[in-house]
Amino acid sequence: MSDMNTANYKNAQILCVGTELLLGDIVNTNAAFLSAQLAELGISVYKHICVGDNPERLSRALRDALSETDLIITSGGLGPTYDDLTKETIAAALGLELELHSPSLDRIKSYFERTGRVMTPNNVKQTMIPHGATVFPNNNGTAPAMAAFGGENNSKTVIMLPGPPNELIPLFHEQVKPFLMSHTDAVIDSVNIHFFGIGESALEEQIKDLMINATNPSIAPYCKSGEVRIRVTAKAETHVKAKEMCDACVETIKQSSVGKFIYGIDTKTLENTLVLALRESGKTFACAESCTGGLIAKRITDISGCSDVFLGGCVTYANSVKQNILGVRAETLASFGAVSEQTALEMAEGVRKQTGADIGVSTTGIAGPSGGTPEKPVGTVFVAISAKDYHKCIKLTLSSMKSREYIREVSASNAMHLALSYLNG
Ligand code: ATP
Ligand code: MG
Repeated sequence: MSDMNTANYKNAQILCVGTELLLGDIVNTNAAFLSAQLAELGISVYKHICVGDNPERLSRALRDALSETDLIITSGGLGPTYDDLTKETIAAALGLELELHSPSLDRIKSYFERTGRVMTPNNVKQTMIPHGATVFPNNNGTAPAMAAFGGENNSKTVIMLPGPPNELIPLFHEQVKPFLMSHTDAVIDSVNIHFFGIGESALEEQIKDLMINATNPSIAPYCKSGEVRIRVTAKAETHVKAKEMCDACVETIKQSSVGKFIYGIDTKTLENTLVLALRESGKTFACAESCTGGLIAKRITDISGCSDVFLGGCVTYANSVKQNILGVRAETLASFGAVSEQTALEMAEGVRKQTGADIGVSTTGIAGPSGGTPEKPVGTVFVAISAKDYHKCIKLTLSSMKSREYIREVSASNAMHLALSYLNG
């Protein structure tokens, strides 16, 4: 059957089955996973549909979906129990008989032997397959996944996957993805552009024209903890061509007014980019943290092998510790306060000198929700850098409506970005 399937999938719908999804007992992570995967394959997802374990409603949802797209991917309801009805309902909707699939029966038998459990008669139900379906054996559970075909000239495909993510995800990667790739005539490549210091809406505003007109490559922005990432995705006949199209688009964005905010192309994270830049320039780094409470050190040390460039950090919360450990002057604290440009600069210089690092950075601010004053409201943070012939402090005025976690995260990112900008000249 699958050999004769000449389908070329361009769009799809994702149909998740399970009353527990509708009750809010579980989050529909399968839909999110499948959507992201299909996007990478260049298959547009038109809809997410979610229905309970009810054959009539499932049937109706399926018929509607099949009238709109040629490919439906379902998750859930392939289990052995009476409420697992997906396969039976879909076979009926496609007008297909269920037949015993003996390779699946053998697999289930050996699965039970391996796991030392007793096979029950209702597991046989899982080895019944709609006529003509392509079976995807499941290495992590009993229910085989499958693609069933129906409609005029078998133009409709319904791929059924089991609900548990630890079964669905490997099944998708190992078997469904190759199946889908053999039925799409395009290859997809994407490049991620990482920005810092510009918000998502400002970025969109500045490259609005580029974005609106971009269909292939497409340009999609994502925003997370004060950082924006743009994903450029091109579809072409070959990877070489797709890559060329992406590169040309990246170049245009680099040359545009937002180009100066780019800190990396296809890089992992800000901290990764900083560690690489430190390594490249042969420089070492240390941090003195007040309001970020060790977050900079944490994020840098999340990177295995960073000890060649990261010397250490101090969490200096109390004024006395800022004085004793970092050498911040009592007069500075008395005249300007702990949350001030002067204190931030002395902290950065102090940690640089104490550790012998080439670059010291610091943070001091009010992460909230309490502790704000009219002069220094929550979200006021000073971030400084000190190097041998260079020092700088920036004042952040983050919204006091933001969470403590967000303010700390963004402050830490700003400190690392200051160091990165210094290294990049
Ligand atoms: P089983 O053989 O385990 O019964 P199944 O294919 O019948 O598998 P369901 O009974 O629908 O699947 O769901 C089993 C479990 O899988 C759920 O309890 C839930 O933990 C997880 N699950 C199901 N659907 C989803 C989903 N859309 N997103 C995330 N997890 C899900
Ligand atoms: Mg089930």
